[in-house]
Amino acid sequence: MEVASRLARLRTVVDEAGCDGLVVGHLTNVRYLTGFTGSAGLLLVRAEHAVLVTDGRYGEQAREQIGDAGVEVDVVVAGAERHEIAAAWAVGLRRLGLEAEHVSWAEQRRLATDWFPDAELVPTEGLVERLREHKDAGELARIEAAAAIADEALARLRPRLAERPTEREVAAELEAEMRRLGADGPSFDTIVASGPNAARPHARPTDRRLGEGDLVVIDAGALVDGYHSDMTRSYVLGDPTPIQQRMLSVVTEAQAAGVAAVRAGVAARDVDEACRSVIAAAGWADAFVHGTGHGVGLDIHEAPRVAATSDATLAAGHVVTVEPGVYLPGHGGVRVEDSVLVTTDGCRVLTHAPKSTTIRPPATDPGTR
Ligand code: ZN
Ligand code: ZN
Repeated sequence: MEVASRLARLRTVVDEAGCDGLVVGHLTNVRYLTGFTGSAGLLLVRAEHAVLVTDGRYGEQAREQIGDAGVEVDVVVAGAERHEIAAAWAVGLRRLGLEAEHVSWAEQRRLATDWFPDAELVPTEGLVERLREHKDAGELARIEAAAAIADEALARLRPRLAERPTEREVAAELEAEMRRLGADGPSFDTIVASGPNAARPHARPTDRRLGEGDLVVIDAGALVDGYHSDMTRSYVLGDPTPIQQRMLSVVTEAQAAGVAAVRAGVAARDVDEACRSVIAAAGWADAFVHGTGHGVGLDIHEAPRVAATSDATLAAGHVVTVEPGVYLPGHGGVRVEDSVLVTTDGCRVLTHAPKSTTIRPPATDPGTR
């Protein structure tokens, strides 16, 4: 990963935002800019220099990780005198940006009165997040590794579904399999939703046992070195009803239409529309109750959003999901999700799990029974 070049790019956007400094307190952003992965740290960035203020638990780790990343940031270990160090750093700054989406009201008041009384504090939005949209080769390698682990874990677990485990068992086994395959963990709490539960897009796994005729939605991802993967597959146990079969076909077609619409320069909302129009044509516009996708990276949900209300334009190097769904109480739900890398002439799909949907009981050999 090219961590060392990120601060220079940040300084450009801070300057464009009319600020001469930025306080970065959101830890995912601190990690992106410095390589530091600790749970306490405030990164202070101005044109001439940057300082990471952390506490006694993290001094050594911060120096090591920032050194490894080749980033020019001074590490200062501080306790109660943190605000004095920050005030000294801020001398001469006029307009100091805060990450408005990550600073609480109470924090903002404290920063204004105790830390930076001489600077004007300016709300900024998405400065680091917009840099994060574009993935470098190292980041992409980690996301691909995470996606490959999730693919393989699901492939190993798929035959198990025919044995009718509970939703909770499927989720636990899938997460254990991802860890065995080298993931640091799941990238979010695995969703396994069966039967009536599948009609809720973000159902939590329950002790419900998978049953004949169920639609089953499995939404899972792996975490590798801070980077997330995200995919969803939907299955039917045994023979689908005609309406279930139609749900599976329509959502699969909508998802393919969305993937086909992805390309650098395309408005994210047009990808949403590509999925939505297929589902609307099937008469289920109201049953597609969420946006089409989201960026994936250091966060499981990050910019850009792929939705009807998104102003984002896709660019080469973005990694986004395409995940339309149809949810019909009484029949269940279907969602299909791939993560894709946006390229200049289309996209590269990073999820390779097969989209075949039917789960049959294990073949039995009459001769041995
Ligand atoms: Zn997902
Ligand atoms: Zn997703």
